[in-house]
Amino acid sequence: MKILLASLCVISLLVILPSVFSASSSSEDFDFFYFVQQWPGSYCDTQKKCCYPTTGKPAADFGIHGLWPNYKDGTYPSNCDETKPFDKSTISDLITSMKKSWPTLACPSGSGEAFWEHEWEKHGTCSESVIDQHEYFQTALNLKQKTNLLGALTKAGINPDGKSYSLESIRDSIKESIGFTPWVECNRDGSGNSQLYQVYLCVDRSGSGLIECPVFPHGKCGAEIEFPSF
Ligand code: 5GP
Ligand code: 5GP
Repeated sequence: MKILLASLCVISLLVILPSVFSASSSSEDFDFFYFVQQWPGSYCDTQKKCCYPTTGKPAADFGIHGLWPNYKDGTYPSNCDETKPFDKSTISDLITSMKKSWPTLACPSGSGEAFWEHEWEKHGTCSESVIDQHEYFQTALNLKQKTNLLGALTKAGINPDGKSYSLESIRDSIKESIGFTPWVECNRDGSGNSQLYQVYLCVDRSGSGLIECPVFPHGKCGAEIEFPSF
């Protein structure tokens, strides 16, 4: 009887322990996402220049850059799974929306696939414990739909007209309209002026909703920044 009980204990430990460990390791994969959108005018007017996608000039709107898993301490995982390459066939139903909402501006001109592939392989593969490849791209598209950055800014009189606006007014108008404090990243135009380049919003681990950012990236804009046209 004792031997039977002991072996039952050993068997149940063997069954339970691996699932406990795998659960805890996957919940530590990352803590939240940055959802990053880029202003095309600011990608294009730097010294590096840009190239429009093969499908033509994108809309004068913020475009998706990526959905990036992150840790609360500010570090982040990258290139997490070489066995899951970008597979266009898994997202064929999303391609039309991706061309619109996630256009590439890098040179030489491309369809966007190289950009999406890079984002999936560097960042998307690190969210596989929560969402698969189709869900990863679908989640980013849904977030873009839900967060009308340009609408938030123009409602506050902040327009892409090459003028300068206070960083505070940009942050406040997004917070006011979207409900969460964004992080604003700047780059420099061809003459060296600081300008509104990317806007970061934070998203919970499941990708279902915006949250206040547990930590902001580093970097600084000026107090007044340009909002170039596109
Ligand atoms: P940069 O050095 O231009 O800010 O960033 C280069 C790239 O590093 C980004 O496009 C992104 O792929 C990655 N990266 C930069 N900062 C972060 C971050 O805070 N979190 C994550 N997940 N990736 C980042
Ligand atoms: P990350 O900075 O996310 O690590 O890398 C961005 C990569 O995607 C770079 O290799 C960049 O050349 C490419 N890329 C292609 N299209 C775009 C675009 O429209 N914006 C940005 N930021 N990178 C792009």
